[in-house]
Amino acid sequence: MRIINLNPDTDIGASAWFVDLEGHRLLMDAGMHPKREGRDGLPTFKPINNEDVDAIAISHCHHDHVGALPVALRHFPKAHVLMTELSYFIVERVLHNSVNVMTRQRDELGIKEYPLYTHDEVDDIAPVFQGFRYNREVEWAAFHKTRAGFPSPTLEFYDAGHTLGSAGIMIRGKKETLFYTGDVCFHDQTILRAARFEDVKADVLIMESTRGNRLVKKGFTRETEIERLTAAIQRALKRRGCVLIPSFALGRTQEILALLALLMREGKLKQQPVYIGGLGRVFTEIYDLEAHRTHRQHTNLQLREAHNLVVLEKGQAEKMKLSGGRIFVITSGMMAENTAAHDLAARMIGDERQSIFFVGYADPETPGGRLKAAKHGETFVFSPGAGRVTRRCDVQDFDLTAHANRDDLLDFVGQVSPRAVLLGHGGDESRKWFEEQIRARHPKIKIIQPQPGRTVEV
Ligand SMILES: [Zn+2]
Ligand SMILES: [Zn+2]
Repeated sequence: MRIINLNPDTDIGASAWFVDLEGHRLLMDAGMHPKREGRDGLPTFKPINNEDVDAIAISHCHHDHVGALPVALRHFPKAHVLMTELSYFIVERVLHNSVNVMTRQRDELGIKEYPLYTHDEVDDIAPVFQGFRYNREVEWAAFHKTRAGFPSPTLEFYDAGHTLGSAGIMIRGKKETLFYTGDVCFHDQTILRAARFEDVKADVLIMESTRGNRLVKKGFTRETEIERLTAAIQRALKRRGCVLIPSFALGRTQEILALLALLMREGKLKQQPVYIGGLGRVFTEIYDLEAHRTHRQHTNLQLREAHNLVVLEKGQAEKMKLSGGRIFVITSGMMAENTAAHDLAARMIGDERQSIFFVGYADPETPGGRLKAAKHGETFVFSPGAGRVTRRCDVQDFDLTAHANRDDLLDFVGQVSPRAVLLGHGGDESRKWFEEQIRARHPKIKIIQPQPGRTVEV
């Protein structure tokens, strides 16, 4: 089996994996690096330019896994694109939104290469997308390359519990198997239930390592974290200040909306409008509509009925009054410039009554990451656009992650019992932790930290 990690960077970066299994070639994910600008954010396609790729399989619709799909299809115009049925309902919206974001960045930040693809191109490629149910075996090699005695390898999507439609991908050849976790969550979230990877065994495992640098403290539970967040929101609203919860549009927004709906039903929060973004609203609708296809809790909870959702229009974040206890669940999760979360935060940071609550990862080099790191009363550069600000508002961090904790992933390695593990989707420190722990527990497993663009034979 030949595998190439196409992430242009050694951190979480952009996910894209090339696999050659028994002479059939597959690309798993085609993501964009969230922090790099222009073409530097694309996967490195150079090492596979002369490869004949039959199919592209998408693990889930987050930008760092799917954002470069139109560019990947330029390299491999004959490839089929396979994803879960739930991702199929989402993927075009994500790509069109990506065109909009890139176009805005070209205009406002002067990044001339943007957009890297157009709305027309997204419409042109959409007919090759195919959606499959979880736990169906799909033959993915080009039909003309297979014949009796030389069947196609298969692919099967396993529910990864990370976001709507997310999947781990099992590849089965005649002799060998490979499992790719994608982004995975081994615990229940408020809506989505935990991954269903119970019967996964494979010869080779490609595993995410997002939280390898994060120790889960003794006594930590998601429930106590939710109680802490509830109390913090109650205090903020009592002060008549606003609450901003920066959230990705897909997944995180709906999880927080579900949590707020439960709190309102229990009378722990008073019923009030919740402000969300336009794309967050679209995905919330899909969460509601596809509840019956989703392995989830509260299947009877329709977020749009439970809430009075108000879509924040363009420019409103700069003008609206920030008093009277409003709740914003708004993109972007890391408060990238030119987003509503960034513009609201820029106005809230210096005001003691306001609260900003993080419920997910924010890279240290993003505005969100810098705000998280700033102490009360500290003056710091929030972003080039907003400049220097002094933090006077309440800033807190709540661990409601949609990624597996490291000990659960370590147990998973034991369960899969592969001959080799390839570590991806994590920083240096995280990968190092996993390498050491796996070596200590399973000395026979080969551990590989594949460098960008290098071919690995396993
Ligand atoms: Zn993800
Ligand atoms: Zn990811």
